[in-house]
Amino acid sequence: MAEQGEARMIGGARQSDDADSKVRPQRLKDCIGQSAVIENLDVFISAARTRAEPLDHVLLHGPPGLGKTTLSHVIAHELGVGFRATSGPMIARAGDLAAILTNLEAKDVLFIDEIHRLNPAIEEVLYPAMEDFQLDLIIGEGPAARSVRIDLQPFTLVGATTRQGLLSNPLRDRFGIQFRLEFYDTQALIEIVNRGARVLDFKIDPAGATEIARRSRGTPRVALRLLRRVRDFAAVAGAKLVTASIADGALKRLDVDALGLDAMDRRFIRCIAENYSGGPVGVETVSAALSEERDTIEDVIEPFLLQQGFLQRTPRGRVITDKGFQHLGLAAPKRDTAVQFDLLDRGGA
Ligand code: ADP
Repeated sequence: MAEQGEARMIGGARQSDDADSKVRPQRLKDCIGQSAVIENLDVFISAARTRAEPLDHVLLHGPPGLGKTTLSHVIAHELGVGFRATSGPMIARAGDLAAILTNLEAKDVLFIDEIHRLNPAIEEVLYPAMEDFQLDLIIGEGPAARSVRIDLQPFTLVGATTRQGLLSNPLRDRFGIQFRLEFYDTQALIEIVNRGARVLDFKIDPAGATEIARRSRGTPRVALRLLRRVRDFAAVAGAKLVTASIADGALKRLDVDALGLDAMDRRFIRCIAENYSGGPVGVETVSAALSEERDTIEDVIEPFLLQQGFLQRTPRGRVITDKGFQHLGLAAPKRDTAVQFDLLDRGGA
């Protein structure tokens, strides 16, 4: 179930003990990795500030835990404007959105997380607000209904989504600035782990930081969460310094393997490998077999396995690659030619 997915040690989704605010970077210069995104944002923010205009609307997409919320805070900070946050599913009625929009001050940043889950009727209200800073509302019902137009302060909408493909075209087109956040490389994650250890005030040696970074699924939120759990193991063991062997021991006990895959990842690979001969198999079938929400599979589990080359998406379904079989120590099956064709010519489609 979704809860199960979110409670995973390496799950990208936010968990209650993340205490994000302490370790969250505040300025662009504190953001580690994502250099192309950061450099471009820097230019756009400086230009908007010079022109004394609000920044164009920004869409951030990518798997959970890569820094979309963090960047939205940073944008508001760098612009020196107010920040309001909400999320797609939280805006149930047009009136909710109207209340938020009319309370914004000039050039404020409004952050809408999970913007792909916005109800379509509310999206309609958002279009003129984004384009012309105007709100068209219908007040009353039946013959007494009338439409009113409210002028809004110019604002910047920062939308975040784990899946850009689920966004309607008219909504996507209204974002002048769009960035895809990528998984972080080990070097960036090492810096994030070191910074986290400094903020949380404990000592970790370079090999210990590397061990955690390598096993964080390319995701800062996972790196910081593993760091906290490793710190707990170190504290109980009475260690003053987190070394590679302490980190390794703790991560093993947390069931995170050498490449950062956890029990859920391995269950996913094993399910397709053993029950469906490695695939192709539809995601709905895997979701039912694992009793795991399809969204959790597509948003949290699959992106990293795809990026690492353990999994491929083909027109006929999910396929575990030979590398995936090897990682679990299973013998890869002989594939029929149709699957080979999918893998070679249309892999990842
Ligand atoms: P998302 O909104 O994409 O799910 P968040 O913005 O909540 O992700 O980031 C998750 C965690 O990772 C936060 O605690 C944040 O402090 C940390 N983080 C994200 N991006 C960076 C970065 N570039 N440098 C350092 N820490 C980061």
